[in-house]
Amino acid sequence: MSSVVFLGFAALFGLAIGSFLNVVIDRLPAGRPIVKGRSQCDSCGHTLGPWDLAPVASYLALRGRCRYCGAAIPRRILLVEAANGLLYAFAVGLYGATPLSLITMAYLSILIVVFVIDLERQLILNVVTLPSIALALAAAPWGPVGGGSLSLKDAYLDAAYGAALGGAVLLLIYLGALFIMRREALGLGDVKLGALLGVMLGFVPTVVTLDIAFVGGGLLALGLWLFKVRRPGEYIPFGPFLVGAAVVSLFWGQALFDWYWALFG
Ligand SMILES: [Zn+2]
Repeated sequence: MSSVVFLGFAALFGLAIGSFLNVVIDRLPAGRPIVKGRSQCDSCGHTLGPWDLAPVASYLALRGRCRYCGAAIPRRILLVEAANGLLYAFAVGLYGATPLSLITMAYLSILIVVFVIDLERQLILNVVTLPSIALALAAAPWGPVGGGSLSLKDAYLDAAYGAALGGAVLLLIYLGALFIMRREALGLGDVKLGALLGVMLGFVPTVVTLDIAFVGGGLLALGLWLFKVRRPGEYIPFGPFLVGAAVVSLFWGQALFDWYWALFG
């Protein structure tokens, strides 16, 4: 099979899973079952047919409106499908048909779910982070941590160090803000997300993730305050910064670290 066809399959598979992720993002925070019940339009309640659910294509064909009542379909539906499809193709392009590809794809989808739910509802759900920590721990030797090249022991150790670092740094900030400023700078969900990213990435890429998230989050907060989109002290969820930084580190964490080290080390 030529590599273009192979990438195309990965992208299509990613679009289909992305469509499922939208269901998860809608139903999980509301406590609704994920596998039971057909999807319906949020406005008119009409049950959606297979043509209405074709990822990306149906959104474009219907110009972002419900076929039955004309209500606008959230743009997020399209963005999640497209992002998941592109990221799957990218992962397969980098890693080929390997366990590393599959595990990376699973991580990317988990991260998309965390990103969108935190952005929309300022929530990081235990029902997402805790099982994902267990999954990532089991997968560590074959995923981005070990990549099939570390010994089992070294891979598990690296994942554990990463989890300890990610969890501890965010827990310290959480506790520090609580004691010094008497308010929550971030939530305990961020602490668990930090541990999850550590298990997924290993120690060094977790250092890079935290660096990018703090710098990026700080700069964006500053920008939002300067342009008066948000007032100082107003809550900005930190999870999306952690997740965005983690996606960069997932692919280039070690390379970024080596580059930085060569520059300033
Ligand atoms: Zn409708």
